Amino acid sequence: MTQSSVPFLPFVRPDIDEETIRGVADVLRSGWITTGPQNQAFEAALSEFCGGRPVRTFNSGTATLEVGLRIAGVGPGDEVITTPASWVATANVILETGATPVFVDIDPRTRNIDLNLVEQAITPRTKAMIPVYLAGLPVDMDRLYAIAREHKLRVIEDAAQAVGSTWKGERIGKLGDIVSFSFHANKNLTSIEGGALVLNNEEEAALAQKYRLQGITRTGFDGMDCDVLGGKYNLTDVAARVGLGQLPRLEGFNAQRRKLARAYFAGLAGGVAEKLGIGLPLADFENSNWHMFQITLPLEKLSVDRAGFMGALKERGIGSGVHYPAIHLFSLYRARGFREGMFPHAERFGATTVTLPLFTQMNEGDVARVCRAVNEICEQYGR
Ligand SMILES: *Cc1c(COP(=O)(O)O)cnc(C)c1O
Repeated sequence: MTQSSVPFLPFVRPDIDEETIRGVADVLRSGWITTGPQNQAFEAALSEFCGGRPVRTFNSGTATLEVGLRIAGVGPGDEVITTPASWVATANVILETGATPVFVDIDPRTRNIDLNLVEQAITPRTKAMIPVYLAGLPVDMDRLYAIAREHKLRVIEDAAQAVGSTWKGERIGKLGDIVSFSFHANKNLTSIEGGALVLNNEEEAALAQKYRLQGITRTGFDGMDCDVLGGKYNLTDVAARVGLGQLPRLEGFNAQRRKLARAYFAGLAGGVAEKLGIGLPLADFENSNWHMFQITLPLEKLSVDRAGFMGALKERGIGSGVHYPAIHLFSLYRARGFREGMFPHAERFGATTVTLPLFTQMNEGDVARVCRAVNEICEQYGR
C-alpha cells in the first residue's frame, strides 16, 4: 500500500533556525566571509563546551582525523588500530598518513570496536587507536584509556557522531586524548560541512593550526615561515556562523532524539519485526546522543533483500540509509589483503543494517508510522 498523500519522510534533515539564517546573511554582508571572527567565536564556544580544552575548527571531520594522527606523530611504518564498522574516512585517513590500518572486530551489542580484542592486535609498531562512537554511543572510556596508558598508545577519538554524548556524566571531548568531531550536514550539530579537533595543550593547538593552513606561521606584519607540510582545511565564517547557531540548541536537539529513540523501542516491541528477529541498537539512555537509529534485518527469514526492504520503505514514503558496509571489504582494502571472514560481526552488521529516520523535527507520530511500515514489510516478506 503506497501512502502518496503523506509527505516523504527522509532519514535525516538539518534543523537551521531563522536567527541563524539571518546571522549567515550578516556574515555574507560583513566583508569577511572566510576564516575570521565567527571561527574565533565558534572555537571559544566549543572550547567552553569541552571544559576549556583548546579547540580548532576545520572544514571537515576527515581533516580533523588526519591532522589528529599527524599531531600524534603517526606516519609510515606505524600501525593504527580501528574498527571496520565506520564511515570509510576513519580508515582512509590512516592510509593518508602512510601508516597501516589494523582492524579489530566489533562487539555486536554496541556495534563499536570490541575492547576485549584490542590488546591481541597491538604490536611493537602500534602507535595509536581510533575508536569510533557509532550512532553516538561511546566505548567504555575507562577501559579504552587503561589500554592506551598500559601500551603507551595515542588515542584519536572519532567522535564525529558523538557531539553531546557523555561518559559517566562528562561530555565526550572534555576527557581523553585528541578528540575529533564532524559537523557534516547529517550530524547532530552541523556547520553544513566542518569539524573540530579538541587538543591537549597550546603546542598541539598551534600545530593543528599549521596543519590546517599550509604549515604556515606568521610573525609581526610581514613575517612568514612554512616548516611542516600542511593542507587547506580551514572553515569559512559562513559555516562557523551556522555552527554557532546550533551549539546552544544541541541539548534540546539531543533530548528530542532520545525521545524519538524511546518511541522506536516502544513502537517495535512485540511486533512482527521483533518476532522475526530484527536487531535493535543497545538501549543506552545514559551516554548516547542518538545520532542514528539502526536496525539489522533477519535476512534469512525474509524473502526480500536489504535493497528490496529499503525500496518497500520508500514506497511507503519513508527514507532510510546504510551506515556502514564493513570498510575492509571495499576494493581499496581488499587490495591490501583484507578478506571476508576476518571480522564477522562487522561484516554481518554492515550487510544487514538499515538506518531508520531520526531527526529533530520528527515527532512520535512519525516514528509510529515508520514502525508500522517496518512491521508491515516484515509481515509481507516474512517466511
Ligand atoms: C561523518 C563522519 C566522519 C567524517 O566527517 P566529515 O565531516 O564528513 O569529513 C568520520 N567518521 C565518522 C564516524 C563519521 O560519521
